Amino acid sequence: MTTSRGDVLTAALTAAGAAVAPDLARAQEHEDDHDHGHQAVPSDPALRVKALESLLVAKGLVDRDALDELIDTYEHKVGPRNGVRVVARAWTDADYKRRLLTDADAAISELGYGGMQGEHMVVVENTATVHNVVVCTLCSCYPWPVLGLPPVWYKSAPYRSRSVIDPRGVLREFGLDLGDDVEVRVWDSTAELRYLVLPERPANTETLTEQELAALVTRDAMVGVAKVTAKREESTA
Ligand code: FE
Repeated sequence: MTTSRGDVLTAALTAAGAAVAPDLARAQEHEDDHDHGHQAVPSDPALRVKALESLLVAKGLVDRDALDELIDTYEHKVGPRNGVRVVARAWTDADYKRRLLTDADAAISELGYGGMQGEHMVVVENTATVHNVVVCTLCSCYPWPVLGLPPVWYKSAPYRSRSVIDPRGVLREFGLDLGDDVEVRVWDSTAELRYLVLPERPANTETLTEQELAALVTRDAMVGVAKVTAKREESTA
């Protein structure tokens, strides 16, 4: 997964948003009112993020150590690297899988994962006849501890709206063409419930270790827009 400083700062800004929003809103109104030689807003997102970071630090709303800690967390501690371990454990340990499907929070925390945006998890299992796919139609709710921050397409309006209207069509665009004999279930994430798909274990992987199995699992498979294949394929950005 790639986590940019911008993604992480977006999360931080969301947290600080309530406090800083009025200032930004006033600044925007001011900018809209007239143009008298203000410095133009940098077009480069990285520059804009840097400017917002400077503003938040200057106002005492965040401190740099906290930002560095947040960035370290999302670069090194949370993300699909955690989700793949959950999936591989479920594939190799039937008792764990049972616990995962009945009390996901507890089972995921057994592996040491949990926290913000992962408090109320539900794991749904893909089988030969049922394919689950996850969306957040309202915004971008996503299980951060096991999948990290959501990819851009997950937050896009077309994915959010079309996944519920034409899930098979959306999945085809991801390269996944499901037969009519497969039931597609779409799960709409909310602030209260976050979903993780337990993909089907691919055939001919009986001899693989849990670690080798984990290396096959992709983020997209855990959202439900891909299957896991015996040969690891790079997930879409
Ligand atoms: Fe949401």
